[in-house]
Amino acid sequence: MSPQLASLIENVLATKSRFSSAPQQLARFMRGTEGLDNFDNKQRQLMAVITLTDVSEIKLILDLANQCAKDEKLAFSLYPISTGNNWGYGTSQPTGLANNIILLDLGRLTKITHFDSELGLVTIEPGVTQQQLSDFLHQHNHDYMVPVTGAGPSCSLLANALERGYGITPYTDHFSAVTSIQGYWANGRPYQSAVYELDASEEKLVDKTFKWGLGPYLEGLFTQSNLGIVSQMTLRLAKIKPDFTSFFIQMADDSLLEAAVPLIREVLQDYEGIVGSINLMDQRRLLSMFAKNPNGNDAHQVMLSNDINKLASELRAPSWTIVGSIYGSSRVVKVVKKEIDDIFKQLPCKRIYSNSLSIILANKTIDILPAWLINKVPMLTTIAEQLDSFNKGKDIMLGKPNKVALKLAYWRHKDADGFDKDKLSPGQDGCGLLWYAPLIPMKANKMREFVEFIRAICPKFNIEPFITFTNLKHDCVDSTIPIVFDLSNPKAVNDAHNCLKMLVEQGLKKGFVPYRLNIDQQQWLLNKDSDFWQTVNQLKSSLDPNNILSQGRYNPN
Ligand SMILES: Cc1cc2nc3c(=O)[nH]c(=O)nc-3n(C[C@H](O)[C@H](O)[C@H](O)COP(=O)(O)OP(=O)(O)OC[C@H]3O[C@@H](n4cnc5c(N)ncnc54)[C@H](O)[C@@H]3O)c2cc1C
Repeated sequence: MSPQLASLIENVLATKSRFSSAPQQLARFMRGTEGLDNFDNKQRQLMAVITLTDVSEIKLILDLANQCAKDEKLAFSLYPISTGNNWGYGTSQPTGLANNIILLDLGRLTKITHFDSELGLVTIEPGVTQQQLSDFLHQHNHDYMVPVTGAGPSCSLLANALERGYGITPYTDHFSAVTSIQGYWANGRPYQSAVYELDASEEKLVDKTFKWGLGPYLEGLFTQSNLGIVSQMTLRLAKIKPDFTSFFIQMADDSLLEAAVPLIREVLQDYEGIVGSINLMDQRRLLSMFAKNPNGNDAHQVMLSNDINKLASELRAPSWTIVGSIYGSSRVVKVVKKEIDDIFKQLPCKRIYSNSLSIILANKTIDILPAWLINKVPMLTTIAEQLDSFNKGKDIMLGKPNKVALKLAYWRHKDADGFDKDKLSPGQDGCGLLWYAPLIPMKANKMREFVEFIRAICPKFNIEPFITFTNLKHDCVDSTIPIVFDLSNPKAVNDAHNCLKMLVEQGLKKGFVPYRLNIDQQQWLLNKDSDFWQTVNQLKSSLDPNNILSQGRYNPN
């Protein structure tokens, strides 16, 4: 990197901000779960990393990038990350393949700049994590939930919303809960909404309360795009309700899927606002949460039916598990629980509620038993582990972040048992993970077709077909298929990528279209000549005429 550019950058940075082109500093950001290093044509590189400490620096850096753009020796592009934990979609690696990319690390911009306890609105900078907001709400006794995801405490709330991620708290779709954005277009022009600009009051509160603003809705252009950098975002938080229960409907028979789908839809339509999103998991996916990989974590092969049957009977894992939650007053929860029970009674299934006496007693019993006894008796160990996962899953539905879901990424990690389960970090720990995350209309026959499709394709590549469906609404399901592989095994990495490619290509023919793509797919799947991407490119030329921001991110060219 040219010393001239280094000094230009250092001149615009605040004293506490950091700039480095040292290989060991850069290496930290290049550790992705996606295994892109395995392929000559997919390797990313960074020229430097800038860690900002003040949001005002975002504009200064954008301006500098634009000024340098026409100078061959000084030209660079920026790739912003908030916490850089986009595991399975790129982690913290840049989308583009150029050799002059500077990573713009916004992870130290961690101010909660505004909180309205009456309205439940919080305004955050990019580096504010799920854990930070959780601590803040807890410290101040604010009875609101964090919009958590399975990715856990260390992840940015703002970046997850920009990726249009979702969780299973009442406001499932995280971008839907974004009421206001401020930031900068790539050309350096500040963005704030028209409502904000018109509002002549001092506090300018109304902008934070109304998502759509006035005039063209531009805030969506900051999501899944490369047109601007967001410096702050206001989120609408869901209120903690006086009562809650989660429900687990277990079906022993795989063929009951078709019968269960209309019942799930009925629950979602009839109890909208009371029942959060519903997850439907198959047996293998459930086993990945509770069982040890029977093949050993270093084997690049799927579980055999015998192993599955054995594990399923040991752990009493059903063919399908429906997981959801009811939020409301005690009376509402009681009534809706009864209604849900009646709805699912039509099926041969077991119905478990987190507030049922058996679960409460089981927790109490495990709590009073000494740890040595639990560790000594295998059956008690299993029960304690299952209860722990169950309770942590329940905490996630209550908006309390934890790392319980991250275990999935270690299914094929050679040293899976060696990690402290409270410190998991799939990128830094060397896990292999890609996601296939298609949208599926919520019709039983389409969902069955999808299940058969996944079960046919994944094993061809020695990838375990773990199936989860998450209801985004009563009419739309997203399935997140984790493609978990051993990152240290080149054949496994190759198979994982080929598996994902086949799933995407064959899936499109069946109408299964991903809602989100990893940084590699963004380069080959999207057709730059289509009407949609041509329009995006026109916007790009206007908002980023020098192409200095996140080249290739959701923008084929
Ligand atoms: C086991 C497991 C479970 C997971 N569960 C979920 C889940 O339930 N839901 C879910 O959505 N995801 C899930 N993930 C995927 C992913 O890890 C999360 O979505 C995570 O929150 C994304 O990383 P991040 O928040 O650190 O974003 P970052 O990596 O910081 O950013 C993500 C993207 O947004 C862009 N960006 C970031 N900040 C800005 C900014 N200020 N301005 C402009 N662009 C910006 C970046 O360029 C980047 O491409 C899971 C992953 C694992 C391994």
